[in-house]
Amino acid sequence: MTESAQSRLAKHLAAQHGFTLNGVALLPPDGIAPRAASYSEWLSRGFNGPLEYMRRTRETRMRLQGRFPWARSVLALGAFYDAAPRGQPGHDLIAHVARYARGRDYHLVFQRRLKKLARALVDQGIAGRAHWLADTGPVLERAWGEAAGLGWTGKNTCLIHPRFGSFCLLAEILLDAALAPDTPAGNRCGTCRRCLDACPTHALVAPGILDANRCLATWNIERRGDAPEQLWAAQGGCAVGCDICQLACPFNAPRRLPVPDPELAAPRPWHAMTLAACIAMTPAAFNRAFAASALRRAGLKGLRLAAITVAGNTRAGECRAALEQCRTDTDYDIRRRAEWALQHDHSARRRTSASTSADNAAGL
Ligand code: SF4
Ligand code: SF4
Repeated sequence: MTESAQSRLAKHLAAQHGFTLNGVALLPPDGIAPRAASYSEWLSRGFNGPLEYMRRTRETRMRLQGRFPWARSVLALGAFYDAAPRGQPGHDLIAHVARYARGRDYHLVFQRRLKKLARALVDQGIAGRAHWLADTGPVLERAWGEAAGLGWTGKNTCLIHPRFGSFCLLAEILLDAALAPDTPAGNRCGTCRRCLDACPTHALVAPGILDANRCLATWNIERRGDAPEQLWAAQGGCAVGCDICQLACPFNAPRRLPVPDPELAAPRPWHAMTLAACIAMTPAAFNRAFAASALRRAGLKGLRLAAITVAGNTRAGECRAALEQCRTDTDYDIRRRAEWALQHDHSARRRTSASTSADNAAGL
């Protein structure tokens, strides 16, 4: 089989296994990953903030062959999730959760598909060895996706497909065969800077440069709601994650949204949960509602903290009783955040302006 035929067959199999986005990139002879230099510069400026693992895994991210000396190609993969608006802001939890986290935990969905796809790639003779990664190893995955022609890295740091936008999740399979590579897509951001202007915390400090210290998603996902107090108000209506810089992007205009992956888009048991119910949630209710959900990673306490913060910021009147109840909670952080939310709510009602800048930016 020629390298081109191998590449075509690999992408055909990828599509058959549920990866709408697929492309091939070759590892260069020196093994240095695409965008390694900007990643290193980003770390040196401390923009990884509390994400210490980004620094710890620096060497492998920059040079995949250090850990995978046999790797010759990267099969970059992706699938689109459901990005349609859902729920009533200030009332339903779902309205305050980033779209990628609303579905079934994509790690579980992707891992099952990747195992089968990796086996098929070997069985069909495309490679002798195939190793899959789905947020499970240190890879500069957007950079590899870009190199494999899936899209370009926008000024909001997301991978943007020229036709379908950026509401997609990524994975990779490393192969020991050198397949014919795809051509990287050109950057189409042009003079646009909507994402930079929309970010409520100015976390996009320059085009394509994110300061994770200031990004809401760093705190309400990666750090499970443990944000510094000065960011609580800026969190606005974002309970888990933050879609603001993606929603501002013209490449994510509603008319462009692709048909989402059916498995990622399937409704979850918690979709009907209100903010108030989330604030008052018990461990048993958490286990029932969030089994196999992407939100399980935020943890019970993280979700409650997030909901409390949003209730304070959105002046959600129906959450008041649940917030009052938190005053006697056994957890100090819950008590403290609820106290803040009740006071923030009260002082916000007295302000002449009806909404925070973060609310405005989120379109809530
Ligand atoms: S996710 Fe939100 S806080 Fe982070 S850069 Fe985008 S708009 Fe800013
Ligand atoms: S909003 Fe504009 S600048 Fe930002 S990623 Fe989208 S196209 Fe690029």
